[in-house]
Amino acid sequence: MNKDGFLIVISGFSGAGKGTVVKKLVEEYGYSLSISATTRAPREGEENGREYYFKTVAEFQNLIDYNGFIEWAQYVDNYYGTPRKFVEQEMKEGRDVILEIEVQGAMNVKKQYPNALLIFVTAPDANSLKERLAGRGTESEEIINKRMKRAAQESEDIDAYDYIVINDDVEECVKTIHSIIVSNKCLRGNNLEFIDTIKGELKAL
Ligand code: 5GP
Repeated sequence: MNKDGFLIVISGFSGAGKGTVVKKLVEEYGYSLSISATTRAPREGEENGREYYFKTVAEFQNLIDYNGFIEWAQYVDNYYGTPRKFVEQEMKEGRDVILEIEVQGAMNVKKQYPNALLIFVTAPDANSLKERLAGRGTESEEIINKRMKRAAQESEDIDAYDYIVINDDVEECVKTIHSIIVSNKCLRGNNLEFIDTIKGELKAL
């Protein structure tokens, strides 16, 4: 098997419930989760270093300048980025790392890490997305509308993802994503080094 951990990118429309899904993947299956940096203000109940590292625009820019991000992107009115150090270290130590990021970031990650597994999580239909977003009560109507517009743009990039998972039932969705990750690890193409080694060992016997 591959010695390094895998990168798993989970994207989805705002309101698709991917935050809950990712949290459960970490709790139930022990995946490592990258905590992003953002210039967005914390929502009620969010803590610095738990949901995000909350940064000023100047601090965020500084991290860009020092190559501190694997990728970063603008989403609606804010910047979001994946800190490089944590992800590289975790993968080197053999842990599978989940990045919960939007589509531009996902495309960027795939360019740098062609083996990254890209999973797109969506609600069953557009109306339930809007209802979930409004029901959450964390965003103003203006922001909800911006996020819905962004979802329409993001839908154009679904084709670049390896798997699409409909989040109708959270537990089912979590199990499905875990199965996808396990299958992906067993893909022959992800085990070329192992195959070479075992061939060599067998010949040497
Ligand atoms: P929210 O403000 O709802 O927490 O996140 C807004 C969007 O930004 C979501 O689609 C989320 O997946 C994405 N996002 C969070 N962290 C990152 C990141 O580090 N990089 C990128 N490209 N997107 C991110």
